[in-house]
Amino acid sequence: MKNLLAILMTAVFSIAAQAQQNDFKVTLLGTGSPPPVLKRFGPAVLVQAGRETLLIDCGRGCTQRLFQSNVKLGGFDALFITHLHSDHIVGIPDLWLTGWLDSPFGSRTQPMRVVGPAGTKAMMENMQKTFQWDIDTRVADQNLSRAAVGINATDMGAGVVYERNGVTVSAIEVDHGDLIKPAFGFRVDYDGRSVVVSGDTRFSENLIKHATGVDLLVHQVAMAKDELLARSERVRIILAHHTRPQEAGSVFARAKPKLAVYYHFVLQGDQSVPAPTEKDVEDATRTTYGGPLILGEDLMAFAIEKDGVRQIGK
Ligand SMILES: [Zn+2]
Ligand SMILES: [Zn+2]
Repeated sequence: MKNLLAILMTAVFSIAAQAQQNDFKVTLLGTGSPPPVLKRFGPAVLVQAGRETLLIDCGRGCTQRLFQSNVKLGGFDALFITHLHSDHIVGIPDLWLTGWLDSPFGSRTQPMRVVGPAGTKAMMENMQKTFQWDIDTRVADQNLSRAAVGINATDMGAGVVYERNGVTVSAIEVDHGDLIKPAFGFRVDYDGRSVVVSGDTRFSENLIKHATGVDLLVHQVAMAKDELLARSERVRIILAHHTRPQEAGSVFARAKPKLAVYYHFVLQGDQSVPAPTEKDVEDATRTTYGGPLILGEDLMAFAIEKDGVRQIGK
């Protein structure tokens, strides 16, 4: 009997320790870009820190990936938007309305909180107008709560944009191109640990400044073969708005995160020149950076612990 009790107590303590270790968790919900492929859905990152469940961007398929991560669609505290390019936000109506449904996977009970750059509030108001028929009909027909389909949206600037339950979210201004302003990355701090998500940016000194010493740095990457770059204006424009692997390597080498992870792969090709592979991205990064690096995949997850960052999913 005594032995059984000892075994039980050990189990309880080990579960408690596990919970403690996993109390700051980052899941890559989507690591793709506009190409509509199944392997990489649109950019979206889930950050679970203490009692807070936060989303950064909501690209295509964010709803499905959140469901796969066992998070209720109505169960997140806030959505943060890096910028208003469609590939980063096109999943919002699905998440918002499906999360409102009276169902085991939805059931949001309060307005959805959205924080994003200038234009976010107007976009959310217009989105509500777009879906007015659905909202009115379901309120009348299914008795769904009109309050719970509301959206509490805020336009933000750089700096601290959210503070709750010991979790701080800061917007970091990045450089996504002269005509694509404003654009932000985000830093989430909790209990002396941190993650930075780059959003879309060219090589950015400001991102390095705010990411220096961070535990986990989640960064976008864009690449095309030289042959294609030489003859395609379209591809040159896209690459000029993003960070290439060699440049991202320099960002990692200077910011020195405990772990660098790629998400939002923008790999350009056409009918005659194939897009670079993940191996090409890794090799190019290694010309400027020798530290810890993971090429992210959808649903890969990481625990940010006191003594380092550990991959826990996939
Ligand atoms: Zn963009
Ligand atoms: Zn993008």
